[in-house]
Amino acid sequence: MKTHQERMAKKKEVIDKRIANATEERGVLILLKGNGKGKSSSAFGTMARCVGHGKKAAVIQFVKGRTETGEFKLFRDHELIDWHVMGHGFTWETQDKEQDIAAAQKAWAIAETLLKDDSYEMLVFDEMSYMFKYKYLELAPVIEALSNRPKNQNVMITGRVMPEELEEIADTISSIRDERHAFRLGVKAQAGIEY
Ligand code: ATP
Ligand code: MG
Repeated sequence: MKTHQERMAKKKEVIDKRIANATEERGVLILLKGNGKGKSSSAFGTMARCVGHGKKAAVIQFVKGRTETGEFKLFRDHELIDWHVMGHGFTWETQDKEQDIAAAQKAWAIAETLLKDDSYEMLVFDEMSYMFKYKYLELAPVIEALSNRPKNQNVMITGRVMPEELEEIADTISSIRDERHAFRLGVKAQAGIEY
Protein backbone atom coordinates (compact mmCIF):
# COMPACT_ATOMS: atom_id res chain seq x y z
CA MET A 1 0.00 0.00 0.00
CA LYS A 2 1.20 3.51 -0.84
CA THR A 3 2.09 5.80 1.99
CA HIS A 4 0.37 9.15 2.42
CA GLN A 5 3.61 10.83 1.37
CA GLU A 6 3.79 8.80 -1.86
CA ARG A 7 0.18 9.60 -2.76
CA MET A 8 0.72 13.31 -2.12
CA ALA A 9 3.92 13.30 -4.19
CA LYS A 10 2.02 11.70 -7.08
CA LYS A 11 -0.79 14.23 -6.74
CA LYS A 12 1.69 17.11 -6.75
CA GLU A 13 3.27 15.73 -9.91
CA VAL A 14 -0.11 15.64 -11.69
CA ILE A 15 -1.07 19.14 -10.53
CA ASP A 16 2.34 20.61 -11.41
CA LYS A 17 2.01 19.19 -14.91
CA ARG A 18 -1.43 20.80 -15.29
CA ILE A 19 -0.11 24.14 -14.07
CA ALA A 20 2.78 23.93 -16.53
CA ASN A 21 0.29 23.27 -19.35
CA ALA A 22 -1.94 26.24 -18.49
CA THR A 23 0.18 29.01 -19.91
CA GLU A 24 -2.27 31.06 -21.93
CA GLU A 25 -3.11 34.53 -20.63
CA ARG A 26 -6.48 35.86 -21.71
CA GLY A 27 -9.90 36.85 -20.46
CA VAL A 28 -12.53 34.14 -20.06
CA LEU A 29 -16.25 33.83 -20.57
CA ILE A 30 -17.89 32.36 -17.47
CA LEU A 31 -21.48 31.14 -17.37
CA LEU A 32 -23.21 30.67 -14.01
CA LYS A 33 -26.39 28.73 -14.46
CA GLY A 34 -28.80 26.34 -12.75
CA ASN A 35 -31.77 26.58 -10.41
CA GLY A 36 -29.82 26.79 -7.16
CA LYS A 37 -29.00 29.96 -5.22
CA GLY A 38 -25.60 31.53 -5.81
CA LYS A 39 -25.28 32.66 -9.43
CA SER A 40 -25.44 36.44 -9.11
CA SER A 41 -23.65 36.46 -5.78
CA SER A 42 -20.82 34.42 -7.29
CA ALA A 43 -20.54 36.87 -10.18
CA PHE A 44 -20.44 39.88 -7.83
CA GLY A 45 -17.97 38.11 -5.58
CA THR A 46 -15.65 37.50 -8.52
CA MET A 47 -16.09 41.11 -9.59
CA ALA A 48 -15.08 42.24 -6.08
CA ARG A 49 -11.96 40.12 -6.44
CA CYS A 50 -11.22 41.78 -9.76
CA VAL A 51 -11.67 45.38 -8.58
CA GLY A 52 -9.69 44.49 -5.46
CA HIS A 53 -6.77 44.14 -7.85
CA GLY A 54 -7.45 47.63 -9.21
CA LYS A 55 -9.13 46.47 -12.41
CA LYS A 56 -12.14 48.22 -13.91
CA ALA A 57 -15.53 46.46 -14.08
CA ALA A 58 -19.08 47.06 -15.28
CA VAL A 59 -22.40 45.44 -14.43
CA ILE A 60 -25.54 45.33 -16.50
CA GLN A 61 -28.61 44.01 -14.73
CA PHE A 62 -30.94 42.75 -17.41
CA VAL A 63 -33.77 41.99 -15.02
CA LYS A 64 -34.77 44.84 -12.82
CA GLY A 65 -35.57 43.13 -9.56
CA ARG A 66 -35.11 44.95 -6.29
CA THR A 67 -33.19 48.14 -6.95
CA GLU A 68 -31.65 48.63 -3.52
CA THR A 69 -29.71 45.41 -3.27
CA GLY A 70 -26.76 45.16 -0.89
CA GLU A 71 -24.36 44.74 -3.80
CA PHE A 72 -25.72 47.84 -5.51
CA LYS A 73 -25.43 49.90 -2.32
CA LEU A 74 -21.87 48.68 -1.80
CA PHE A 75 -20.61 49.02 -5.35
CA ARG A 76 -22.52 51.90 -6.99
CA ASP A 77 -20.09 54.59 -5.84
CA HIS A 78 -16.95 52.55 -6.38
CA GLU A 79 -14.64 54.42 -8.74
CA LEU A 80 -13.74 51.27 -10.68
CA ILE A 81 -17.32 50.04 -11.21
CA ASP A 82 -20.03 51.18 -13.63
CA TRP A 83 -23.46 49.87 -12.71
CA HIS A 84 -26.31 49.83 -15.20
CA VAL A 85 -29.83 48.69 -14.45
CA MET A 86 -31.90 48.03 -17.52
CA GLY A 87 -34.13 51.10 -17.97
CA HIS A 88 -37.86 50.54 -17.55
CA GLY A 89 -36.60 47.07 -17.39
CA PHE A 90 -38.20 43.76 -17.58
CA THR A 91 -39.52 42.57 -14.27
CA TRP A 92 -41.69 39.57 -13.57
CA GLU A 93 -44.56 42.01 -13.19
CA THR A 94 -44.44 43.78 -16.55
CA GLN A 95 -46.88 42.82 -19.18
CA ASP A 96 -45.75 45.23 -21.84
CA LYS A 97 -43.67 43.21 -24.25
CA GLU A 98 -42.81 46.09 -26.60
CA GLN A 99 -41.47 48.15 -23.71
CA ASP A 100 -39.45 45.17 -22.47
CA ILE A 101 -37.89 44.64 -25.88
CA ALA A 102 -36.96 48.33 -26.17
CA ALA A 103 -35.36 48.21 -22.71
CA ALA A 104 -33.47 45.00 -23.55
CA GLN A 105 -32.09 46.56 -26.72
CA LYS A 106 -30.99 49.66 -24.87
CA ALA A 107 -29.17 47.52 -22.32
CA TRP A 108 -27.59 45.49 -25.11
CA ALA A 109 -26.37 48.70 -26.78
CA ILE A 110 -24.46 49.51 -23.57
CA ALA A 111 -23.14 45.95 -23.41
CA GLU A 112 -21.93 46.15 -27.00
CA THR A 113 -19.98 49.34 -26.27
CA LEU A 114 -18.40 47.76 -23.20
CA LEU A 115 -17.44 44.69 -25.22
CA LYS A 116 -15.28 46.92 -27.43
CA ASP A 117 -13.56 48.74 -24.57
CA ASP A 118 -10.44 47.03 -23.33
CA SER A 119 -10.21 49.26 -20.27
CA TYR A 120 -12.90 47.07 -18.68
CA GLU A 121 -11.39 43.82 -17.45
CA MET A 122 -14.62 42.41 -16.04
CA LEU A 123 -18.18 42.62 -17.31
CA VAL A 124 -21.12 41.09 -15.46
CA PHE A 125 -24.29 40.55 -17.48
CA ASP A 126 -26.65 39.58 -14.70
CA GLU A 127 -29.75 37.55 -15.66
CA MET A 128 -29.00 38.02 -19.33
CA SER A 129 -30.19 34.52 -20.19
CA TYR A 130 -33.83 35.60 -19.82
CA MET A 131 -33.41 37.97 -22.76
CA PHE A 132 -32.86 34.94 -24.99
CA LYS A 133 -35.52 32.84 -23.33
CA TYR A 134 -38.17 35.46 -24.06
CA LYS A 135 -36.59 36.37 -27.41
CA TYR A 136 -36.05 39.98 -26.37
CA LEU A 137 -32.56 39.83 -27.85
CA GLU A 138 -31.15 38.00 -30.82
CA LEU A 139 -28.41 35.60 -29.96
CA ALA A 140 -26.21 35.91 -33.08
CA PRO A 141 -24.99 39.51 -32.50
CA VAL A 142 -24.32 38.68 -28.85
CA ILE A 143 -22.20 35.67 -29.77
CA GLU A 144 -20.33 37.75 -32.31
CA ALA A 145 -19.62 40.63 -29.92
CA LEU A 146 -18.51 38.22 -27.18
CA SER A 147 -16.24 36.37 -29.60
CA ASN A 148 -14.61 39.60 -30.81
CA ARG A 149 -14.16 41.26 -27.42
CA PRO A 150 -10.74 42.46 -26.21
CA LYS A 151 -8.40 39.63 -25.33
CA ASN A 152 -7.93 40.65 -21.70
CA GLN A 153 -11.64 41.02 -20.99
CA ASN A 154 -13.50 38.64 -18.67
CA VAL A 155 -17.27 38.27 -18.95
CA MET A 156 -19.64 36.59 -16.53
CA ILE A 157 -23.22 35.82 -17.50
CA THR A 158 -25.81 34.58 -15.03
CA GLY A 159 -29.24 33.02 -15.49
CA ARG A 160 -30.99 29.74 -14.93
CA VAL A 161 -30.84 28.29 -18.45
CA MET A 162 -28.14 29.19 -21.00
CA PRO A 163 -28.61 28.89 -24.76
CA GLU A 164 -26.48 26.15 -26.28
CA GLU A 165 -24.64 28.56 -28.63
CA LEU A 166 -23.48 30.56 -25.62
CA GLU A 167 -22.23 27.44 -23.88
CA GLU A 168 -20.27 26.53 -26.99
CA ILE A 169 -18.11 29.68 -26.74
CA ALA A 170 -17.80 29.71 -22.92
CA ASP A 171 -14.54 28.87 -21.12
CA THR A 172 -16.02 28.08 -17.72
CA ILE A 173 -19.53 26.86 -16.99
CA SER A 174 -20.72 26.31 -13.43
CA SER A 175 -24.09 24.79 -12.81
CA ILE A 176 -25.59 25.44 -9.39
CA ARG A 177 -28.01 22.74 -8.42
CA ASP A 178 -31.00 23.51 -6.22
CA GLU A 179 -30.69 20.91 -3.51
CA ARG A 180 -32.66 22.85 -0.91
CA HIS A 181 -33.78 26.44 -0.42
CA ALA A 182 -34.90 28.12 2.80
CA PHE A 183 -37.78 29.76 0.92
CA ARG A 184 -39.46 26.38 0.60
CA LEU A 185 -39.08 25.90 4.34
CA GLY A 186 -41.12 29.05 4.74
CA VAL A 187 -38.23 31.44 5.45
CA LYS A 188 -38.83 34.97 4.21
CA ALA A 189 -36.37 36.62 1.76
CA GLN A 190 -33.82 38.56 3.80
CA ALA A 191 -31.75 41.66 3.15
CA GLY A 192 -28.14 40.53 3.10
CA ILE A 193 -28.97 37.00 1.95
CA GLU A 194 -31.36 37.27 -1.00
CA TYR A 195 -30.70 40.89 -1.97
P1 ATP B 1 -28.16 34.97 -5.61
O1 ATP B 1 -28.43 36.37 -6.09
O2 ATP B 1 -28.58 34.82 -4.20
O3 ATP B 1 -26.80 34.51 -5.93
P2 ATP B 1 -29.16 33.57 -7.92
O4 ATP B 1 -28.63 34.65 -8.77
O5 ATP B 1 -28.51 32.24 -8.03
O6 ATP B 1 -29.20 34.02 -6.39
P3 ATP B 1 -31.76 34.03 -9.10
O7 ATP B 1 -32.40 33.04 -9.97
O8 ATP B 1 -31.19 35.24 -9.72
O9 ATP B 1 -30.68 33.28 -8.19
O10 ATP B 1 -32.79 34.45 -8.00
C1 ATP B 1 -32.55 35.55 -7.18
C2 ATP B 1 -33.26 35.46 -5.86
O11 ATP B 1 -34.07 34.30 -5.73
C3 ATP B 1 -32.32 35.41 -4.69
O12 ATP B 1 -32.93 36.17 -3.71
C4 ATP B 1 -32.26 33.97 -4.29
O13 ATP B 1 -32.01 33.75 -2.92
C5 ATP B 1 -33.61 33.48 -4.68
N1 ATP B 1 -33.50 32.09 -5.16
C6 ATP B 1 -32.52 31.57 -5.92
N2 ATP B 1 -32.72 30.27 -6.16
C7 ATP B 1 -33.88 29.97 -5.52
C8 ATP B 1 -34.64 28.77 -5.36
N3 ATP B 1 -34.23 27.63 -5.90
N4 ATP B 1 -35.80 28.83 -4.64
C9 ATP B 1 -36.19 29.99 -4.09
N5 ATP B 1 -35.52 31.16 -4.21
C10 ATP B 1 -34.38 31.14 -4.89
MG1 MG C 1 -29.40 36.09 -10.00
